Amino acid sequence: MQESMENPSTPFKRGKVKDVYDIGHDQLLFIFTDRVSAYDVVLPSTIPRKGEVLAKLAAFWFNNLNTPHHMVRIEDANRMVVRKLKMIPVEAVVRGYLYGSLYERLTKGEISLPVEPVLAAKLPEPYFDPTTKSDVKDEPVTIEQIEEEGWLDSEQLEAMKMSVRAENAGFILADLKLEFGFDKQENIVLADSIGPDEFRLWPKAEYSPGKIQESYDKQPIRDWLGKVGYKKTLDEARKEGRPTPRPPDLPAELIHETSRRYIIAYERLTGLKL
Ligand code: ADP
Repeated sequence: MQESMENPSTPFKRGKVKDVYDIGHDQLLFIFTDRVSAYDVVLPSTIPRKGEVLAKLAAFWFNNLNTPHHMVRIEDANRMVVRKLKMIPVEAVVRGYLYGSLYERLTKGEISLPVEPVLAAKLPEPYFDPTTKSDVKDEPVTIEQIEEEGWLDSEQLEAMKMSVRAENAGFILADLKLEFGFDKQENIVLADSIGPDEFRLWPKAEYSPGKIQESYDKQPIRDWLGKVGYKKTLDEARKEGRPTPRPPDLPAELIHETSRRYIIAYERLTGLKL
């Protein structure tokens, strides 16, 4: 194995699909693995080339959005070196469609919006829906402070640009989560990653409001987990507070199909060959 392929030894965080290492010099190394999660459970099978797709897709957005970002360079197909930042504990979510928790909050009457409460309805304009990251206790920056700084406007603008790009590639970018941090000079910098775990991408041809939309990448896996009964077992275990049941190995055909979808999404969105 080449030296550059070895994993550095200082783990910063082992996420569900991304491993993060502190490599010194105020830099972090992101290793995008081929691991895949569904319903918040990491599955025992891996998806070939998924890590590479995620790394290259994130690099594509960082390079193409007109906003300061933390990427320093991409290495070995699935690794990215970034500047280490003081993270702002806010998930900056921009939504173009009424879906997920926004739909739930509307139907429960917790918020009001100028839109019929139809699942997956298009919102009249992008809705900025930030949430404070729940795992962070002290909050150096509040959402109000960020709004006062005025950086949300530019961030929304960038999200708009991404959705136009997706639209031209035959997809709907239904929503998007971005994270930001401060660099040494206290500039606000786009951080984390931008990929299928940060946005919902629906194939335009199959879109129609009033139903659950197919998410392009992981939908076959979710469907299969439903079909083999794992989803039900998982829901029951969660409801009763039991440990997560072991997910089944994915069949080879499903692994292949999922890998294919990640690659197609990358190639259509970027116009590049993987
Ligand atoms: P999460 O689901 O919390 O985003 P990840 O597995 O993606 O978890 O872990 C990445 C972690 O690194 C996150 O907590 C994220 O806020 C943090 N992070 C992302 N970019 C940077 C950066 N440039 N500097 C410091 N921390 C970062």
